[in-house]
Amino acid sequence: MAAQFNIGDIVWAKLSSFPPWPSKIVRPKKDIKKPKGKKPVYFVFFYGTEDHAWVKAENLKPFEEYKDQMIKANKGKRFHQAVEAVEAVLRKGGGAKRGRPPKHSASPKSGPYRDTDDIDHEEVVPSSKPVQKTYSREPLLGKTVSPSTSIGLKRPPESLGAEASIILKRPREDNESDLYNFDESEHETESDIVTSKDDITPTCLKIGFLGLGIMGSGMVRNLIKTGHSVMVWNRTPMKCRDLVQAGASVGGTVNEVVAACDITFGCVADPNAVRDLVFGTSGVLQSIRPGKAYVEMSTIDVETVQDVAESIESRGGRFLEAPVIGTRKPAEDGMLVIVAGGDRSLFDDCESCFLAMGKKAFYLGEIGSGTRMKLVANMVLGSVMAGYAEGMSLAERAGLDLQTVLDVFKEGPLNCAAVRSKGDAILHSRFEPSFPLKHQQKDMRLALALGDELKQSLPVAAAANEMFKRAISLGNGDNDMSSVYRATAL
Ligand code: NAP
Repeated sequence: MAAQFNIGDIVWAKLSSFPPWPSKIVRPKKDIKKPKGKKPVYFVFFYGTEDHAWVKAENLKPFEEYKDQMIKANKGKRFHQAVEAVEAVLRKGGGAKRGRPPKHSASPKSGPYRDTDDIDHEEVVPSSKPVQKTYSREPLLGKTVSPSTSIGLKRPPESLGAEASIILKRPREDNESDLYNFDESEHETESDIVTSKDDITPTCLKIGFLGLGIMGSGMVRNLIKTGHSVMVWNRTPMKCRDLVQAGASVGGTVNEVVAACDITFGCVADPNAVRDLVFGTSGVLQSIRPGKAYVEMSTIDVETVQDVAESIESRGGRFLEAPVIGTRKPAEDGMLVIVAGGDRSLFDDCESCFLAMGKKAFYLGEIGSGTRMKLVANMVLGSVMAGYAEGMSLAERAGLDLQTVLDVFKEGPLNCAAVRSKGDAILHSRFEPSFPLKHQQKDMRLALALGDELKQSLPVAAAANEMFKRAISLGNGDNDMSSVYRATAL
């Protein structure tokens, strides 16, 4: 029989693909749904990752009793940091002793949560001070989400993200607050990446992947490296060659891939490409039936995502939107951020794939939530890039040395991966695409359309969009988005 735990107990929590991790039993959070099933589960907080998840009782062990054994078996740097964090808590007297109510809870609930249990939302883990909202806005299109859980910031964004996410069970790095890791030098050291990716147990499900552009090819390579069985397809078949050499099999058509695989991912250019892929002759839909699943990772609009979702689900398949944040290098390094919405069971089934491709995956709720998140992120990115390009042009016209401008930026609050790498691109006129400018303009267009729909004024993004359009008309569509700089020349 599985052991019984109380809120506040320090434990080792084991999630499928990862080693047992130093954790604490805490009260469940409203936005992380309890998994279905009869087996007793506990809600745990993972030290070092600041994340939470439901864990089966059978996968929990008392911390002290198993400490020596666990520490011997795990060598990772971040694992040891997490152990140190627990030890510090224990030294300060935190963490409940088994069988005794924890200090921070007036009426602790003991034992696992079952389907009949009420979920108590009281926060046990120490949290940052709530940020007071001094304004109010209508929730999206009359949706029932309350402002406090949708846009109201109860905590700083970093913590809010952790709350809404399912963790990838890979501990965070200090630099993970950078959404866009543009610069090759910005990533974790190779050994860190290898150590954590080595912990992945690939799903035994057969994986399909459609679209081997800049993003898709990096993502597939990481699926293969982590032991997944992958079948690929690309409109231009030549692009399959390297991945076949790396271990992928290749499908002759889109529907051949979907027919042969359990979960098929798609990552193509834009909404038209997605419609071709899904609804076209020999497209995804042809082979969708119960048991099949499709995950859309392209950046597209909510309407297209909803159309695709409906069609897949009407044929008995499962659907998840999972657009990605990060560009060429994070795709190659398996360091993308995934923002998903839709079928939760499919999100869970994608765990080892998301671990292979990304550093963190957020489950944001219903279909459309991932797409909205992605469009907001890229709208901000595009606006920043356009303003940056203008600033560099002004600096040049003012007779400033651009290298010195970058050196100054790197010493101040503008020091981030995006500013460093895109600044170097401008300085050296090196615009090989990491994120093609035409895709950035597409994202500005889609974000502006979302703004229109929601009656949200977006003057800065609208102006930035005009700069990207001009850059395209000057022949920069296939160059990197940083070539928007060329649109700032008189
Ligand atoms: P990319 O390098 O331009 O590749 C585009 C892919 O889409 C290629 O595989 C292309 O096939 C395929 N494609 C285009 N039209 C198609 C159609 N009608 N039918 C079937 N396939 C079609 O683009 P990417 O950078 O990989 O981006 C892919 C998606 O991820 C886009 O939605 C983009 O906005 C998003 N994204 C990109 C980045 C980035 O930094 N690059 C970051 C985050 C998200 P061919 O090879 O035959 O042309």
